[in-house]
Amino acid sequence: MHPEVASSFETVLTKSFVSLKNKARELKTESSRSRIDRLKSLRNWILENRSSIQEATYADFRKHPLEVDAIELFPVLAEIRNAIVNLDHWMSPRKVATPITMLGTSSYIQCEPRGVCLIISPWNYPFLLCVGPLVSALAAGNAVVLKPSELTPHVSSLIMRMTREVFDPSIVECVEGGPSISQGLLKLAFDHIFFTGSLTVGKVVMKAAADNLASVTLELGGKCPSIIADDVNLIDTAERTAVSKFVNNGQTCIAPDYILIDEKIADKFITLLIEQTGRMFGNNDAAFDQSPHYCRIVNEHHFLRLNNLLTEAIEDGAKVSLGGKVDRSSRFIHPTILTQVSPSSRLMREEIFGPILPVLTFKSLDEAIAIVNAQPKPLALYIFSRLKKVQQRILRETSSGGACINDSGIHFFQHNLPFGGVNTSGIGKSHGYYGFLDFSNQKAVLKQRWGFTTTKVFYPPYTGWSSKIMDWLFRLLKHS
Ligand code: NAD
Repeated sequence: MHPEVASSFETVLTKSFVSLKNKARELKTESSRSRIDRLKSLRNWILENRSSIQEATYADFRKHPLEVDAIELFPVLAEIRNAIVNLDHWMSPRKVATPITMLGTSSYIQCEPRGVCLIISPWNYPFLLCVGPLVSALAAGNAVVLKPSELTPHVSSLIMRMTREVFDPSIVECVEGGPSISQGLLKLAFDHIFFTGSLTVGKVVMKAAADNLASVTLELGGKCPSIIADDVNLIDTAERTAVSKFVNNGQTCIAPDYILIDEKIADKFITLLIEQTGRMFGNNDAAFDQSPHYCRIVNEHHFLRLNNLLTEAIEDGAKVSLGGKVDRSSRFIHPTILTQVSPSSRLMREEIFGPILPVLTFKSLDEAIAIVNAQPKPLALYIFSRLKKVQQRILRETSSGGACINDSGIHFFQHNLPFGGVNTSGIGKSHGYYGFLDFSNQKAVLKQRWGFTTTKVFYPPYTGWSSKIMDWLFRLLKHS
C-alpha cells in the first residue's frame, strides 16, 4: 500500500474502531430482544438476496447455486434460527453447585459480550465462514469488524453491501482487502479475534493478538484422515467419500485429505469410488470438464500449488487410478485418485486442499493409527467400520478436533456439537451454543450473605478451632 493511502486508511480505521468500542459498552446492557432483532434483519437480508449470493459465488469459482444454498446459506440460516430460539436461555445466568466450605453463598456464570471482535475469513466457503461466526458474535452481543477474503472478490463486496444495508456501522463494519489490510486491522486492540484460514497465517494472527492480549479462536486446517476397516458397506463408504472429497473441488478444510484402507478391500473400494465420483460429476473427462456440479480451483496460485503436488507425487512413483487431467486456463483439476503414494512425499506432508485423494493401505489397525499419529492432530478424523470396538479404539488412540463415524464432514452441520480443531488444527470452538460462548466472557459471579459465613473459619487469627476444622476438611478430601 502507498504510504499516504496507508496512513489515511489507518486514520479512518482508528476512527471507526473508537465508535465501535463506544457502542460495544452500550451493547453490553442490551436485552435479548435487540440482539434477536439484529439476527432477524440479517436472516431477512440473506433470504432476499439468495440469488445475488449464488451469482457472486458462481462468479468467484463457478459454484453450483444449489451447493451454495445447501452448504453456505442453509447452515447460516440454521445458526440464526438456533440462536433466536435459544438466546434467552443462553443469556440467563447458569447456577453452579456450592462446595461445603462456601455454604451460604450462591454462584453463577453470567455471559457478557467480549466487546469488539474481528472476524477474518477464508475464501473456500466465503459466505458461510464469514457470516456464520458473525451470527455467534451478534448473538453474544458484540460489535464486529468483518474482513472477508480478497480471493473471492464478488462475495467479499456482497458482504460489504450486506453490512451497509443491515447494520449500524458502529455495530458491524466490513473492511475489504488482503494481507496488508488484515495486518492493519490486527494492530487494533480488539477484544477477540476469530480467524479461519491457514496454519501459517493463524500464527501471524496469534502473535498480533498477543500484543493486546486479545483472546483468539483459530479455525485452521490440516490433513484429515479417513480410516476404512474391512467390514464396511463399501458402496455407502465410496459414495460418502466421493461427495465429501470432491464437493467444492476438494477445497474444504474437513474434506478427507487421505484414505487409509484395509488392503483386503482397497481395489474394490477404488472401483466403487471411481463409479460414485463419475455418477456425481460426469462419466468421462469431457463430462467432468463441463459439469455444472463441479466448481473450479479458486485462483492460479492454488492451481499451480496443486499441480506441483500432483506432478511430484507421480514422479515419486504414485499411480493414477482416476483423473490426473488439468487445465490451467480454466483452473480445472479432474477428481484424482492416487495409489502407491510415498508416505514421505509432499502430498502426504502438506494439507492438499484440492481434488487429489491419496489412497494408502494398511494390514492392521495398529499401522493405520501409527500413520495418523505421525501427523499433526487433524481438524477431523473419519472412521468407517461397523464394529464399536474398532470405532472406540481409533477414537481413544488418536486426537482430532472432531470425528465422524461412518460418514465424513457432516458433523460440521450438527450445530449442537462444538466445531474446531486441536493444536495445529485450531484453538477454540464454534457453532451454536459453543459459538455463543466463544464470543462471550463467562463471568464468574459469587454472592455472599451478610453476618456469619463459613469462610470466616479461615480468617486470622488462626486458632486451635480453625486448625481442627482444617484437619477435618483434609480428612474429607482424602476419602473422596
Ligand atoms: P489464508 O490463511 O491464506 O487466508 C485467510 C484470511 O487471512 C484471508 O482473509 C486473508 O486475507 C488473511 N490473510 C492472509 N495472509 C495474511 C497475513 N499475512 N496477515 C494477516 N492476514 C492474512 O487461508 P485461505 O487460503 O483463505 O483458506 C484456506 C485455509 O483455511 C486452509 O488451510 C483450510 O484448511 C483453512 N480453513 C479452515 C476452516 C476451519 O473451519 N477450520 C475452514 C475453512 C478453511
